[in-house]
Amino acid sequence: MTLLSKVTQAARNAIGRPSPRVLTVKDAWFLTPNMIRVVFAGPELAGFPTGREGGNCKLMIPDIGETKEGFAARLQGGLPPVKRTYTVRKFDAATGRLTIDFVAHGDNGPASRWASQAKPGDFLGFAGPSAPKVPHFEADWYLIAADPSAIPVAAATLEAMPRDAEGVAIFEVTSPEDRQNIDIPGGIDVHWLIQPDPHVPSQAQEDLIRSLNWPAGRVQTCIAGESGVIRSLRGFLATEKNVARGDTYISGYWKIGLVEDEHQKVKRAEAG
Ligand SMILES: Cc1cc2nc3c(=O)[nH]c(=O)nc-3n(C[C@H](O)[C@H](O)[C@H](O)COP(=O)(O)OP(=O)(O)OC[C@H]3O[C@@H](n4cnc5c(N)ncnc54)[C@H](O)[C@@H]3O)c2cc1C
Repeated sequence: MTLLSKVTQAARNAIGRPSPRVLTVKDAWFLTPNMIRVVFAGPELAGFPTGREGGNCKLMIPDIGETKEGFAARLQGGLPPVKRTYTVRKFDAATGRLTIDFVAHGDNGPASRWASQAKPGDFLGFAGPSAPKVPHFEADWYLIAADPSAIPVAAATLEAMPRDAEGVAIFEVTSPEDRQNIDIPGGIDVHWLIQPDPHVPSQAQEDLIRSLNWPAGRVQTCIAGESGVIRSLRGFLATEKNVARGDTYISGYWKIGLVEDEHQKVKRAEAG
C-alpha cells in the first residue's frame, strides 16, 4: 500500500464512508448501437452533488431476480455485490435526474448485461461520485482521447471547457453510427476513428497523436480507454513530450481479457 492510499484509507475510516444509495431506473435506451444510456431518478438522489460530471462512481450490480429490499439489505453488510466503475455523464439538479452511459459489450460483463436489460423500476447500488477528472482548465491547448468506455469522461470534460478552448479530440468507436452529439468548443479539432472489434489491440489513436503537429504551450490531457493503448500513450506523453504530471489525466478503464477486479489488481501492482 502506498503512503497516499494509507492516508486515504485512514481518512475514510475516520470520517466513515457514506452508505451507497440504491438508485432506480427512470428510463434506459440505446443511445447508439453500442452504448446504452440509463437515466436514474427518485428520492434517493436527494442531495446529489452538482458539478461532478466526469467524476467516477462505483456501481453495485444486483443478482438476477434479486428484490430491491433484499439487495438494499445486502448493501448494509451482507455478501458484497459485483462492483464496477462508471462515470457521471450528467446530473440535472432541476429534474433530479442522473445519467450514466454504459458500453454494450455483451452479456459476459455483469454491468454491461444489467444495462442492456435495464427498464424503468430496475435498481442498482451507487457510491460516489468523485471530483471531475479535469477540475480546472488552464492550458493553451487540450488533448482528449477516448475509446467508448471513456466517451462519458471525455464528453463531460469537453462540455465543461471554456468555449474558446483549443485542441484536439480523438474518439475511437465501434461503428460510424456510434458517433455521438457532444457540445464541443469550436476550436477543438475532432476526429472519429472506427475500430470494429474492441478486443483487437488498436494503434490508431496513438498513431494519430504521434502525427500531430504538436502546438507550443501548456497542454492538459483527458485520455482514457483500453489499458494497452493507455500504457503506450502514457510513456509517449511523459518521456517524449514532457507533459507535466499535474496536467495529465490518463487512465486505463478496462483491459482486454480481464474482468474489472483483475484489471484493478494489475493497476494497483503497477502503481506500486
Ligand atoms: C474511472 C473509470 C470510469 C469508467 N467509466 C465508464 C463509463 O462511464 N462507461 C463505461 O461503459 N465504462 C466505464 N468504465 C469501464 C468499465 O468500468 C469497464 O468496462 C468494466 O469492466 C465494465 O464491467 P462489466 O461488468 O461490463 O465487464 P467485466 O465483468 O469487468 O468484464 C467482462 C469482459 O468484458 C471485457 N470488457 C470490459 N469492458 C469492456 C469494454 N468497454 N469493451 C469491450 N470489452 C470490455 C473484459 O475485458 C472482460 O473480458 C470506467 C472505468 C474506470 C476505471
